[in-house]
Amino acid sequence: MARERILVVEDECEIQELVRYNLAKDGYQVQCVETGEAALQATRKDHPDLVVLDLMLPGIDGLEVCRKLKTDPRTQVIPILMLTAKGEEADIVTGLELGADDYMTKPFSPRVLIARIRAVLRRKASEPVDEESPLRMHELVIHPGRHEVLSGSEPVQLTPTEFRVLHYLASRPGWVFTRYQIADAIHEGDSLVTDRSVDVQIVGLRKKLGDAGRYIETVRGVGYRFKESR
Ligand code: CA
Repeated sequence: MARERILVVEDECEIQELVRYNLAKDGYQVQCVETGEAALQATRKDHPDLVVLDLMLPGIDGLEVCRKLKTDPRTQVIPILMLTAKGEEADIVTGLELGADDYMTKPFSPRVLIARIRAVLRRKASEPVDEESPLRMHELVIHPGRHEVLSGSEPVQLTPTEFRVLHYLASRPGWVFTRYQIADAIHEGDSLVTDRSVDVQIVGLRKKLGDAGRYIETVRGVGYRFKESR
């Protein structure tokens, strides 16, 4: 069976080799390039199933590559997993807002990287999310049609905005969303939702969800995600 093709964009030899070796061992077809220019060229020409993109590259940097790929109709559907260094939270936020699908901070374990790649490919395959059907996550049932949340069998009373935040996060468990992305997704009509008010909504949500509030995880410096159930 032909496995997915992964393009690895990384200028550091050791990391490139580590990623290449582990992906190949796991059955993926791997192509490696060292520069942003080569990444753009290879992506447009070969249409890989996923791009592993280091942000710190000589020449065109990873964020610019991300921007170019995600604004080009030919390449915008190709998932991008960013590789970042510690302390690059601002770049992670920018990358996610440009449309990158996930990120890993160096140093990382190859096993975790492969798990993330699988998860991104799986999510991509299962899109689009059905906006109307109830979500069952952990002990929560989130019913968008009825605007109703049950924790176990107990109803949870949420404001309409809190409900939208919860539904948005829970419909893509494991994905990290920035405050800006959440604000953008939940705003309705002319009402203005700021980054700060997203934090306020999250505080309220966690409180009302009680024990289940722990599923809404803070990703320091980046944003929030809903914990995946395993
Ligand atoms: Ca690098």
